[in-house]
Amino acid sequence: MTTAAAVHTSGSALPVVLEAVELHRVAMPLVRPFETSFGRQTARDVLLVRVLTDAGEGWGECVAMADPFYSSEYVEGCSAVIRDYLAPALLAAQTVRAPDVAGLLDFVVGHRMAKAALETAVLDAQLRAAGVSFGEYFGAVRPEVDCGVSVGIAPSIDALLEEVAGYRDEGYRRIKLKIKPGWDLEPVAAVRTLLGPDALLQVDANTAYTIADIDHLRELDAFGLLLIEQPFVEEDIAAHVRLARAIDTPVCLDESITSVGVAIDAIERDATAIVNIKAGRVGGYLEAIRIHDACLDRDVPVWCGGMLETGLGRAANVALAALPGFTLPGDTSASNRYFADDLTESFVLVDGRLAVPAGPGSGVTVRAELLAEWRSRPTQLITRV
Ligand SMILES: [Mg+2]
Repeated sequence: MTTAAAVHTSGSALPVVLEAVELHRVAMPLVRPFETSFGRQTARDVLLVRVLTDAGEGWGECVAMADPFYSSEYVEGCSAVIRDYLAPALLAAQTVRAPDVAGLLDFVVGHRMAKAALETAVLDAQLRAAGVSFGEYFGAVRPEVDCGVSVGIAPSIDALLEEVAGYRDEGYRRIKLKIKPGWDLEPVAAVRTLLGPDALLQVDANTAYTIADIDHLRELDAFGLLLIEQPFVEEDIAAHVRLARAIDTPVCLDESITSVGVAIDAIERDATAIVNIKAGRVGGYLEAIRIHDACLDRDVPVWCGGMLETGLGRAANVALAALPGFTLPGDTSASNRYFADDLTESFVLVDGRLAVPAGPGSGVTVRAELLAEWRSRPTQLITRV
């Protein structure tokens, strides 16, 4: 596997002529409800982008959730902005390369998750045609990645411990607990006792706290956590600086990190000692790699977050997590963590790791029969006008 960075190998994949964009919607049943401080999900409403080009097809998964609770983006909004603005702009450009997509779509403010899905689909088409995998193109340095698992807010401590014990027995190398006010010290203490002092354990608050909670959050220092993720609202970098000064547990930003510029600013202000990288949140895998590179330059560890992706998004995340700066296990869990059956080949945990797909592009194939079975809206076809 090559160690060259994507920006250096981008010339190896030829541009493609974009002929049409298709939007697919599926509802995938979750194996168990997933609850965070934002709410509870029982199915994953997924938007998939398929580009049709002169060199073949390419697929991208949009990570937006059904409702605008985790971020301002949501599935129906992403579908509309792609249909009305983003896809027509790319189709008008005709000949495209993934590194040009962000610039071509820059006239639309925000909507990073929607843009990321399109960029990924174009990259997938280019790399499938070139016979190059995402891992090779991104600059992966390992054939498999260490995996952690994100554990939602449970109905009781006993239910939480049973769920965590199950993941431990499956071999996950790190446990992450979702926390919120009223569900923090007690569950964290119970899980720490269950797992023992050496297990990798971290918490994610998904912006549920305020600066008035700093003294309370400091009590988490007793549990030897790897990090606390995003306790405060995403725009408030200053509040995270104050917490980082007050607490021994490293602070890690997720929702706040929307670009490489924001990441560098947060690091330089000591708001974050570790960065959670999610390609969808930052506008695509190419920006995600730029954030990885900036963090590597500054000795800031990174890890790959998760957005309940299907196998399609999971494949790209696993390739990203194989870059050298991803030194902490990611939320790149196996398919069966969320789904009884995956939309692509299933990702199976082996010794707490997932293999980086080696085939061209994402290296996985969308299963047409499941796409049809789980379809929740008619497919939309967008062509050049
Ligand atoms: Mg998070």
